[in-house]
Amino acid sequence: MADPTLFDISQRGKRCTRMPAPEKGAEELIPAQHLRAQAPGLPEVSEPEIARHYATLAAQNFNVDGHFYPLGSCTMKYNPKVNEALAADPGWARLHPATPEEHVQGALRLMHQLEAWLCAILGMDAVSLQPPAGAAGEFTSLRVFRAWHDSQGNTQRTRVIVPDTAHGTNPASVARCGWTVTVLESGDDGRVSPEALADALDDDVAALMLTNPNTLGLFEAQVLQIAEMVHDAGALMYCDGANMNALLGHGRPGEMGFDAVQVNLHKTFSTPHGGGGPGSGPIGVTAELEPFLPVPRLVEQDGRLAWDWDRPESIGKVQSWFGNFLVAVRAWAYIRACGADGLAQVARDAVLAANYIRASLEDVYDLPYPGACMHECVLSARTIAEETGVRAADIAKRLLDHGIHPPTMYFPLIVDEALMIEPAETETKAALDRFIEVMREIAREAAADPEILHDAPHSTPVRRVDEVKAARNPILRWQGR
Ligand SMILES: *Cc1c(COP(=O)(O)O)cnc(C)c1O
Repeated sequence: MADPTLFDISQRGKRCTRMPAPEKGAEELIPAQHLRAQAPGLPEVSEPEIARHYATLAAQNFNVDGHFYPLGSCTMKYNPKVNEALAADPGWARLHPATPEEHVQGALRLMHQLEAWLCAILGMDAVSLQPPAGAAGEFTSLRVFRAWHDSQGNTQRTRVIVPDTAHGTNPASVARCGWTVTVLESGDDGRVSPEALADALDDDVAALMLTNPNTLGLFEAQVLQIAEMVHDAGALMYCDGANMNALLGHGRPGEMGFDAVQVNLHKTFSTPHGGGGPGSGPIGVTAELEPFLPVPRLVEQDGRLAWDWDRPESIGKVQSWFGNFLVAVRAWAYIRACGADGLAQVARDAVLAANYIRASLEDVYDLPYPGACMHECVLSARTIAEETGVRAADIAKRLLDHGIHPPTMYFPLIVDEALMIEPAETETKAALDRFIEVMREIAREAAADPEILHDAPHSTPVRRVDEVKAARNPILRWQGR
């Protein structure tokens, strides 16, 4: 039987707190047409009951503090708790964005330093912290590209080339910018093929959007040649930098020939992402594009920081106030604590962990693109599916029975039965070994007893859900018993 809801345990007259009766009746305070005819049917419970109800629900949740979570920086890597504590400090958290600049020099200094550090990490000349997510960073950068092209009289450039492995936000950002997408098919090695790119380039192309390492976890080793081709064709190079976890301290988009890049602070730089926000997608650009960045820009004069709104070439405002400030606080603290050497170590450990998993599983699962990977490895259950009927989704559900969160599945779209595994830098070797052992065990089960996988998970509070029905007929409200 399902756990009782708050409505089930409700008893008339129970309360957590008692509010003093208002001095005036509701009729005097609220116009009659806005008053309910009947009191709402809210559950009536005591404080311990409500506390236990939510604690029980929370305990049923899969979470990164309790379980191995191979979704990685892309979705939910483990983040140091100290950065949460710092961001929650009332000195930051209760700051009002309209506070006069002279009273918030410390907060402005933090943002200014973070901009400078991100410039150094990305190899770019200027950074804006304003975009509130990775997709918003893509969109803002494309608007900057468009303003630059307009300033050059290149108004015929309306096409953006996007590889078929790209995250779905890339084509969406292009469309929001009023441009059209040309999809570039990946080469046999899972990377951009310079020959295919040459065919796609023309004088109506505004930019190439490239994710490096790409979403197959592969480094685009020909990026310098690609950048030269794109620039020779009069277009700009955009780097989707959401996979920065792999590059920290080892490779800089600015040195790879990119003109702009976004970085997802809520992925690599210590803000939890799985809950759905808030995020932050700062963008870095070359000096040539700097005048077009969103307003306001943070400027320093005589040791004082101030917002500069007077920037005639700017694309304007892209976010209320100055971006998601508390995400910037976590990123500042993370970078400060790691230092340059520590950040390089983060990338080394993340890449090593992914390759350890790849090398330990490639004899049991398909590896569609052989060879070393970066921060994530993309395996495939294609052969297992053909031989046993067990699909990637069944494997993912079975992992839950072993207390492991499923990896990203069925992405990138060009890999059948894809299992994209990103352990990130924080997992111990023991945790990785256990994951490998469970994945091998599941592959054995697929051959011996596929039903157990089709019916998984067996041990979770909610068993296999009908995902199609849940999407088509969502019941999001208590409907009585
Ligand atoms: C997450 C991600 C994005 C989008 O970032 P959001 O902050 O979710 O908008 C874009 N590209 C890649 C490769 C990503 O992993």
